[in-house]
Amino acid sequence: MRKLRLITCYWPLLLLFLPLPVKAEATARLEKLEALIAHHDRLYHEEAEPEISDAAYDALKREWRRLRAQAEEAGKAPARERVAGRVAHHRPMRSLEKVNTEEELRGFLEGCGKADPNARFHVAPKVDGLAVSLWFREGRLERVLTRGDGERGEDVTSAFRAAVRGFPERLRRGSTEVPAFMELRGEVYVPPDTFAAINAARNEEGAAPFATARNFAAGQLLREEVEAVERKPLRCVIFGWGGTEAGGAPFSTQTAFRAGLRSWGVPVLSPAWGKLQLSEIPDIIAAATRDRREWNLPTDGLVIKAESAALRNVLGATGEAPRWAAAWKWANPAAWTTLERIFLRIGRTGTVTPMAVLEEVRISGREVRYASLHSRAFVESLDLREGDRVRLELAGDIIPTLTDRDAAARGPESLPYSFPATCPGCAEPLRHGESYECRNWSCSRRAFERLCHYAETLPLRGVGKATLRKLQRAGLVATPADLYGLTADQVRKLNGFGKRRTEVFLAAIAAGRGVTLASFLRALGLPGIGKAAAQQLADRHASQLTAVFGEEAPLPFLAASSSREVSLLRVALADGECLAEARRLWRQVYGLPR
Ligand SMILES: [Zn+2]
Repeated sequence: MRKLRLITCYWPLLLLFLPLPVKAEATARLEKLEALIAHHDRLYHEEAEPEISDAAYDALKREWRRLRAQAEEAGKAPARERVAGRVAHHRPMRSLEKVNTEEELRGFLEGCGKADPNARFHVAPKVDGLAVSLWFREGRLERVLTRGDGERGEDVTSAFRAAVRGFPERLRRGSTEVPAFMELRGEVYVPPDTFAAINAARNEEGAAPFATARNFAAGQLLREEVEAVERKPLRCVIFGWGGTEAGGAPFSTQTAFRAGLRSWGVPVLSPAWGKLQLSEIPDIIAAATRDRREWNLPTDGLVIKAESAALRNVLGATGEAPRWAAAWKWANPAAWTTLERIFLRIGRTGTVTPMAVLEEVRISGREVRYASLHSRAFVESLDLREGDRVRLELAGDIIPTLTDRDAAARGPESLPYSFPATCPGCAEPLRHGESYECRNWSCSRRAFERLCHYAETLPLRGVGKATLRKLQRAGLVATPADLYGLTADQVRKLNGFGKRRTEVFLAAIAAGRGVTLASFLRALGLPGIGKAAAQQLADRHASQLTAVFGEEAPLPFLAASSSREVSLLRVALADGECLAEARRLWRQVYGLPR
């Protein structure tokens, strides 16, 4: 059993030993990979909108490193330069040794126990965010650096101030004296409930959701145009210290450090368990594994440290990681299955999302048959093909995510997936530039998604997707305005609609008449116009909007305002078909349709 688990968990490594493809193909693939990695780096760092998971990105990097090493060996490629322009840490910011099995954990704990038989331990969540080092001089926040390569990090001070909520600029005078200078080490993250709300809002605006909470946090800190960070969605917790003016540790134990931080008004990690004996640790891990969903922290494991600063000094560090701390990672439940087919989902705003149909597979008690493949770039970057053996993970135990594929298992008939040039909904050419999308407003798939969005956001209770599908197939309804023209006779012809159900259904539609202007705007489902934007537009421009939708005014009035909401609306309504549809709906909702 254990052997089997080992094989499963090291499957990705086998990718490293795949037979070499033909040389020219390798060079072409290398170039393609470099372009893809650059593309994803840009999305990640500059636009804070990564399209692929960390695991998929790592797989890309792995493949790139392998091909690159081969090319360098063959003398075909120069060695890469390192990134310049970083700031040196006072003390190196090392990463943690990962322990994945109980045996490895025991090895780590016993190593500490050998140096000090009375060693005590400290356990806290391992936050899945972006590690930062904060410099405090005379108690004031002076600088914030990312980990970078461990020796030097990026200066992200202004982005930190703009995006992190609830972190003090100045330390309170507490029970413990503040050193003249010290580095605090912490993690910047977005709480899961905030992250879910951000993605829900983006979904409503028709924008692609962020792939992971970690990528979102990193993107907020690393992107350049700081003023674009509108709210303060991030948090920062401190878990350790780096260098100090005097050079030594400012505290004798981790527990004393936490108390000191609290007295200075600095947020600390919670929950945490201090002064533990070695024998208590398995129970703490079991309890944490059980309760971790309640923490509202993006966490993927626990960090176990020696309590005492003196013991840490004795244990020291390897080149890579300290010997006095270890990261216990929870494995995401995963399974291998077959990618049977790829199909394209066309969203309301035209974005094309490739979807995977999988051979049904059971992961932690759930049957999984479908998974989002996020974007065209994701499929191309992993070179996913129909028929591939693929590794599926339940990210955060919820969302099925494809993290790897086994190219060695491919048969001779395997071909790269070829993305269609035309839309499966309307047969118009798909645009493929920065994004891959259908730009035809009248596309039947997009129209159907708008219809569903309209019924769902108002909401029209009881007007569900299945019924809308029937109405669309029967040719009775194409846009929301058509709903108001439905007669009882037409509805009764649908399968399953008797007299009573028809009455209830038509009453539900009628409830959409006379809603607030903000609800109307939101239900239109225009790109970028979600709940907040719709409310702003309704508050500030009610009379002009009434004139525009009521056909009394042409569009140009909107040019007078420069707000983001107005420009989004202007862009959307510049499409004549969109404007006409909105006006038809307006007449049904507010006017007398005669
Ligand atoms: Zn289309």
